[in-house]
Amino acid sequence: MANKKSTKYIFVVGGVMSGVGKGVTTASIAKILQSKGFKVSVLKADPYLNVDAGTMNPTEHGEVFVLDSGLECDQDMGNYERFLDVSLPEDNYMTNGMIFKHVIDKERALGYKGKCVEPIYHITEEILRRIKTSAQKTNAEITLIEIGGTIGEYQNAIFIEAARVLRIKNIKDVMTVMVSYLPVPQTIGEMKTKPTQNAVRQLNSYGVTPDLIIARSSYPLDAKRKDKIADSTGIEAKDVISAPDIESIYDVPINFENDALSTRILSHFGLRPRQKDLKEWRAMVAKMKKADKPVKIAIVGKYFDTGDFILSDAYISVIEAIKFSSYGIGVKPDIHWLSSKDFESDDKKLSNLKDYDGIIVPGGFGETGIEGKINVIQYARENKIPYFGLCYGMQLMVIEYARHVLGIETAHTVEIDPDTPNPVIDIMPDQKKKLAEKDYGGSMRLGGYQALLKKGTIAYKAYGKGEIRERHRHRYEVNPEYIEKLSSRDLIFSGVSPDGTLMEIAELPTKIHPFFLGVQFHPEFLARPLSPHPLFSAFIKASLGRSTKNKS
Ligand code: GLN
Repeated sequence: MANKKSTKYIFVVGGVMSGVGKGVTTASIAKILQSKGFKVSVLKADPYLNVDAGTMNPTEHGEVFVLDSGLECDQDMGNYERFLDVSLPEDNYMTNGMIFKHVIDKERALGYKGKCVEPIYHITEEILRRIKTSAQKTNAEITLIEIGGTIGEYQNAIFIEAARVLRIKNIKDVMTVMVSYLPVPQTIGEMKTKPTQNAVRQLNSYGVTPDLIIARSSYPLDAKRKDKIADSTGIEAKDVISAPDIESIYDVPINFENDALSTRILSHFGLRPRQKDLKEWRAMVAKMKKADKPVKIAIVGKYFDTGDFILSDAYISVIEAIKFSSYGIGVKPDIHWLSSKDFESDDKKLSNLKDYDGIIVPGGFGETGIEGKINVIQYARENKIPYFGLCYGMQLMVIEYARHVLGIETAHTVEIDPDTPNPVIDIMPDQKKKLAEKDYGGSMRLGGYQALLKKGTIAYKAYGKGEIRERHRHRYEVNPEYIEKLSSRDLIFSGVSPDGTLMEIAELPTKIHPFFLGVQFHPEFLARPLSPHPLFSAFIKASLGRSTKNKS
């Protein structure tokens, strides 16, 4: 068991600019330390005033990731869980909003006993309390804390101050890593170190000197650049780590290890590696690279209007889940983004769906493109194209089935039509109350819940067991009053809540359709590179079956 006294902390801060992979860098450092036999945990400190990420628009902020506890947080938490293959507790995520709210609520309740409550000391004290609580709860020997944003922003300064305070008190147990960026302007054709030099100076002005610089760039750093940074900052050249752009984020831990980064960190802490291997990880990355047989998957959704960059960020866990399952069975995913709006009135576009091996409708909210999604689902069902519905994708699958197979033409969800005569998808009673009170933050059915599976179904076969736990984020559900009618023909509710009231998985038997399955939860949140999600794997296998058939 980790000795409380010996807990080591690594703060990861961003220099120069955002969007250079600080989250992946943090997850990768955590991974290589874990591979040396240490118990590692990762926290994210986000500068927003939002109390959690649940109220943030995914097109602006990227995916809202949900922890088992139900906390809605930044997508980086997903990277940490995927890289480390662990479930992190909610203590591992904090925002300025969460910290300030806690301190202000405590002040209002006279928790500070008449003291003057100030950002520095009371906010930093609360930040450090959370970091230490998390280290204790996760029993971590090494805890990494990624500070969101970039040095120089007022809003993350308080987190850096907390890092400084912790370091002063435990100088040997705290490290600071700066993830910087070195541009290579096209007109000059040379890698420039000045922004990194300035970022280090700025960090120095907070009273913090980085122990390591991870130098992100399009190209590897040469000795000259490392020396230049070393000369101007006082950091040794060997502590400037080159981190050039690479094909896959899963290469990052391997590249870091090729540079013996973990040895440098462990020796700083006076620790010795307990084991030496990233063996499984290396094998997984090798398998990823070897896969060449394509499986063509369409994702039909609505958050597609702001360009590819935002799009893939909004569905990062879904994309990664598809990748893990595809690579796991040795095939290469060929993912296509289709806007649901295009399928609202264009039958020709619908018939183009024949070209895909499998179709996914992921989670979503609101009306945009909804009839297009329903048309796509109908096409997939009638043409026996493997279909996997995630959350909204399951609700719409049930609506499609009710309308076109059971003849309930007006079947709908009350999310879109509150007065529908046939609310097959209805608001959950708890959620109704919260909406009426305009209580939107953290107000959905969130986090991990158990479900029981019916024997002989696709779901049961995929999981290989009768009880599962999956993460949720929704307000609506299959209306209990329609279950009998919905189950009157072929549709099976193969997963239900332990009390039998909530329908968690719906599917058609394989004798009718190769794979037509929807889940009320988000399986993508539990997909990990070293343990792909069984339902995604079953879907990819079914899609592969179609792909093979198409070619023969
Ligand atoms: N909008 C639906 C609901 O709230 C589905 C949510 C989702 O797909 N995450 O129930």
